[in-house]
Amino acid sequence: MARLTFKEELCKGCGLCVAACPKHILELSNTHLNQKGYAPVKLMKPEECIGCAACATMCPDCVITVER
Ligand code: SF4
Ligand code: SF4
Repeated sequence: MARLTFKEELCKGCGLCVAACPKHILELSNTHLNQKGYAPVKLMKPEECIGCAACATMCPDCVITVER
């Protein structure tokens, strides 16, 4: 299983990674905001991640790191 890490404070909640994920397992948080006031992305079902890194490639702010 791939391991994803998020630099949450850099996330601006744009949702590009959410749209890019072929497994539809990323969502913007509806429970908290980061220090900049944005709803950061979170991984809903880590066990379904295929490690394709589409999310990390899409993110303009280099928030996501994928380790396989
Ligand atoms: S690595 Fe691929 S499957 Fe996993 S969260 Fe990112 S886009 Fe989705
Ligand atoms: S991780 Fe990147 S692409 Fe995804 S919502 Fe945050 S800033 Fe946008």
